Amino acid sequence: MWQSSDLERKIFMRPTNCIFCGVALTSPGAQQPDSRTKEHVYARWFRDNVVNQKIKMFTSDGTTATMERQPHLEALVNSSVCAECNNGWMSTLETQVDPIFEKLKSGTDISLLSREEVEILARWTGKTAIVLGYVTPIPAIVPECIRKTFHADSPTPPHMRLFYAFIEKADQTLEGGYLQLRYGAEIPVLGSEGGSGYRFTLCLFNHCFTVDFPPILVGVRYDLRESCSAQIWPTFVHAGTSELSIPTPAPIGDVLHMICSRIHIAFDINELHV
Ligand SMILES: [Zn+2]
Repeated sequence: MWQSSDLERKIFMRPTNCIFCGVALTSPGAQQPDSRTKEHVYARWFRDNVVNQKIKMFTSDGTTATMERQPHLEALVNSSVCAECNNGWMSTLETQVDPIFEKLKSGTDISLLSREEVEILARWTGKTAIVLGYVTPIPAIVPECIRKTFHADSPTPPHMRLFYAFIEKADQTLEGGYLQLRYGAEIPVLGSEGGSGYRFTLCLFNHCFTVDFPPILVGVRYDLRESCSAQIWPTFVHAGTSELSIPTPAPIGDVLHMICSRIHIAFDINELHV
């Protein structure tokens, strides 16, 4: 496991094309479908719910979490999306996910959500994680072939897996948390440099969603025996353990890191050659 290198920090530039549909972005002032937009990473429904208006952002090298920054939510904007995506399917997704988070916040157990609601959660978490990867101090750019599967017109489902855990025994609620982890140079991603998987844990009011973007879906296996997160999309798989053994009080970065990194992934090489 490793983090983005200094070189990657330096070569990262603002994308010239929409990160989801690929259209060449034109000037924001033109207000055309392909115009660059400034999109709040967290939409109004979330910003209105958050008391302290900030999100704690961590990175992980696979062994420990490092707090990178704690930006104000209003300042967290992404300008790599076209107007058609922003005002179309992305806006629809925000409208759809708002009442689902309201249910979770008011105590509805996630197991009581419908399959459609869980898929909306998966699409929203994946989309938000991808966008957040562009606005962290160490960019975590999910490969284009994966990003495109989030577009509403994609012929294939989103290339991701979603895991869920709830922080119960906490002194206070973590309203907004983010942790990014990059893994696995040994499995190259076609058409991308470096080759690896990306994983993000997003915490909203102690609900922790971990989205995994494996480099390939064929032959991928998750081992949840040490994980307190259940896989909830595209299929449900029980968590391996109900509690994390972590001394309290634990720094929130350590908690997020443990939730994120205890989901073990392996690839069945035999299936790769089929
Ligand atoms: Zn677009």
